Amino acid sequence: MRLDALAGNEALKRQLSAQEAGRGLSHAYLISGSAGSGKRTLARLLAAAFVCSGSGAVPCGACPGCRKVLGGIHPDVITIGDDGKGITVAQSRQIRADAYVRPNEAPRKVYIIQNAQTMNASAQNALLKLLEEGPAYAAFLLLTDNPAALLPTVRSRCEGLALSPVPRAEAEAWLIRRFPGKEPEEIRNAAAGCGGLLGRAVERLEGAQGDGAAAEAARILVALLAKGDELALAAYCVSLEKWDREALAALLDHSVALLRDALAFQAGAGQNVGPEERETARQAAELSRKTLLESAGVLEALRDAAEFHVGAGHLCGALSAGLGQAGG
Ligand SMILES: [Zn+2]
Repeated sequence: MRLDALAGNEALKRQLSAQEAGRGLSHAYLISGSAGSGKRTLARLLAAAFVCSGSGAVPCGACPGCRKVLGGIHPDVITIGDDGKGITVAQSRQIRADAYVRPNEAPRKVYIIQNAQTMNASAQNALLKLLEEGPAYAAFLLLTDNPAALLPTVRSRCEGLALSPVPRAEAEAWLIRRFPGKEPEEIRNAAAGCGGLLGRAVERLEGAQGDGAAAEAARILVALLAKGDELALAAYCVSLEKWDREALAALLDHSVALLRDALAFQAGAGQNVGPEERETARQAAELSRKTLLESAGVLEALRDAAEFHVGAGHLCGALSAGLGQAGG
């Protein structure tokens, strides 16, 4: 198999390759590991391998089937449990009904069940029969960071694939390939700080995701605004273009809160914020009240726009232009 998109985990990759070349892939896998350990990457590779029509090692990555899976648009690869809401018994029953409908275009139909630990006993039981004696074309990939939360009956019907953290040197080599344009030091820091969980390092290097990242970016943005360095501010806004809308909305929320803190600071009001926020708010408090109010207005308007389908590029452009003009 061609599994090099998954870092580390060499023994597991050898085991899967041998299995695929021998008796063939199993119809159900339980992929476990901490957040950032590569569960979704492995699930995507396996799903592509199931529907690949290329010759040679699977997944070939180039046939229409592989391309659709890797692009997340294959009609026979169904993902559930990725909306953060937990999987309900109704969803399990839906899978059970859907699995008996033959695949659209691929020889197989693949169900990727993320956060499988969020299924309660009824939801798991609804899947049990399917795992035991579902149609031959159906394959199931259950992903979890807590396999112990699954019923023993469910676990025993899946083959276990436990992902391990990746050693530092290997993590670094993988990150260099993935991010060829990044500074070596940035890569080294990300590899050192991720505890072998490359998903974390990727998040950090992509500079987005997570409320912590949004709060930190808001402090940078407001500090640049406070300095009045328009060029640096514009460059920073451009660097935010690769963030998704949700993350940008969080950043805008944090930025507005900082400007409100700065206004409270000017008014001599006590603040209920952490030391880092307080320092940024103190710097921003040196701006005029008018600038602070106008900047907050710009940020709030963009925050509203982020609710709609306004692209990140447009938001960042408007952010740069709006803050450049505020108070001017
Ligand atoms: Zn292929």
